[in-house]
Amino acid sequence: MMKPIIACTMYRQDDPPQGSALPKMALTAAYLQAIMRVGGIPIMLPLGLSEADLVTVLAHVDGVLLPGGGDMHPRYYDEPMSDQIKRLDEERDWIELAVTRLAVVEEIPLLAICRGHQLLNVALGGSLWADIPSQMPGGVNHDFDEGHPPQYQAHSVMIEPVSLLAEVLGTTETAVNSLHHQGIKVLAPSLRASAFSPDGLIEAVEIPEHPFAIGVQWHPEWLLNESAAMVNLFDRFVQAAGNGRS
Ligand code: MN
Repeated sequence: MMKPIIACTMYRQDDPPQGSALPKMALTAAYLQAIMRVGGIPIMLPLGLSEADLVTVLAHVDGVLLPGGGDMHPRYYDEPMSDQIKRLDEERDWIELAVTRLAVVEEIPLLAICRGHQLLNVALGGSLWADIPSQMPGGVNHDFDEGHPPQYQAHSVMIEPVSLLAEVLGTTETAVNSLHHQGIKVLAPSLRASAFSPDGLIEAVEIPEHPFAIGVQWHPEWLLNESAAMVNLFDRFVQAAGNGRS
């Protein structure tokens, strides 16, 4: 049996702290290692592919992973630019919005992480809190990006008992890491919220009519040694990708 192939989007790294300053497109290794750990083959989708190129690539892959990263441009959810919005890359916004809409329409298994979870919501017509600390009433601190290891378990999430996520994780409550300052404000009409943090923020979404489309606000790729449930999340995603090919 052939292993499922998972296409991952990438980010730009033009200014590395050490080594060559030549422009690069990169992806944090933990995403790629998580896919390989559960039997998938990750490949990368470089920035700059056209919509026609994406259609071609997606005809040859079994799943799509949207990783974390900087903020989306707020134009996509009709909010003004502000000083709190950081690390914009509109070329990345474009390719990820395009690949997300294709994966949804073509029913290609999709796992969307952190920025990816937010982008999935925006791609389908939802909006974001551009900055939780300054905008969301009652929002707790979700931004443990600095001063904590990435696996730091920052808060719990309550998972909707009747959801694909609860079935996949095998639990209705778990501790998660939290490395984000934005979050879902208005949920897209075709998405269902499947997990919430104690302050009420939507921490996971899914598309009920899709074979496997899950977004999580946390970073499961950093929790594989702490949580069998997060291994299950990658495992079931790659399994769904394998099932899709016939
Ligand atoms: Mn959080």
